Amino acid sequence: MASIYEYSKEELADLLVDEPRYRLDQLFQGLWADALAIGEITTIPKSLRARLTDAFPSSLEVLDDVASDHGSTRKWVFRLEDGSTIETVLMRYEGRVTVCVSSQAGCAMGCTFCATGQMGFSGHLSVGQVLEQVMFAARAAAPLRLSNVVFMGMGEPLENYRVTVQVLRRLHEYRGLSARHLTVSTVGVAPAIERLAREGLPLTLAVSLHAANDETRNELVPLNRRYPLERLHRACATWIETTGRRLSFEWALIDGVNDTDEAIEELAEYATSLHAHVNLIPLNPTPGYLVRGSSAARVIEFREGLQRRGVNATVRNTRGRSIAAACGQLASVTNARRRSIPVRGA
Ligand code: SAH
Ligand code: SF4
Repeated sequence: MASIYEYSKEELADLLVDEPRYRLDQLFQGLWADALAIGEITTIPKSLRARLTDAFPSSLEVLDDVASDHGSTRKWVFRLEDGSTIETVLMRYEGRVTVCVSSQAGCAMGCTFCATGQMGFSGHLSVGQVLEQVMFAARAAAPLRLSNVVFMGMGEPLENYRVTVQVLRRLHEYRGLSARHLTVSTVGVAPAIERLAREGLPLTLAVSLHAANDETRNELVPLNRRYPLERLHRACATWIETTGRRLSFEWALIDGVNDTDEAIEELAEYATSLHAHVNLIPLNPTPGYLVRGSSAARVIEFREGLQRRGVNATVRNTRGRSIAAACGQLASVTNARRRSIPVRGA
């Protein structure tokens, strides 16, 4: 059964053809501006609410709900109708409330240091399933207003391209979020970056680089074999030229792998040629990757090395680590468990 967030305003109007015209505005206001569950939209009659709730049950079932950082980070594990699970993280900062959404259950890209990559791919999410994550988080954030949406949860958003773009458009047009407050993080699907550039949405784009030489990047990010650094560079240049927007590179700092002095040189050259900002993420531990993250001291040296070479670089904090909600740690226990249960008699 589809989520009600699967529907455009025109499609909702079709659903309500037998109702007075103002019902559409009430429903739309309740769903989008107020982020209410259908049952909570008290401006519409109870019988209609009941009918809509029956026809469009939520596509997300809460399996787990955990908080950390004194309640300012919260993670939910949701079960989808097909039994697969996804995760969503809400982060409250000073003056900003951000939700980090999943675009796929698992991920097929196989980045070695990422928990989602380690679990493999279970399926693409639908428009409704991604939007429901946002609306669920918006409800939980109240009375604070959700201000930012980042596609940095499970999955590679540009591999689920049509859904990602549709979600971005709806959040902008229906929810009224500024496109600048919508961030897509991609591992570097070069042709999709170029296509996204032409959508006319002034989004924020983050590219997960992690290495600026092909040999190391091939190891960390298998997709680099398909779209090596030079190809990715062309896509990034197209992004900047077409959108007039800057982009940022994400770089998970891994001890002895991509935190060397040579890595600073390579990254500085790659980033300055595109005037890109660099976001350093101290590697978060995952079960399937045994190399450690760089030491705190090395993280600072790395940032300073970049800054000395004219690169605008910042270090992202490791929020949510204690509840496995930090970058790259999203891999639902339930999925992991399901995979590891031996099939009897097989
Ligand atoms: N698939 C997209 C978006 C989801 S991953 C992408 O890869 O960009 C969100 C960010 O977390 C990416 O920058 C990713 O490289 C980073 N990440 C993955 N595993 C990590 C880990 N173990 N520690 C720190 N960051 C990690
Ligand atoms: Fe997928 Fe991103 Fe993880 Fe790579 S880092 S496996 S692209 S979720």
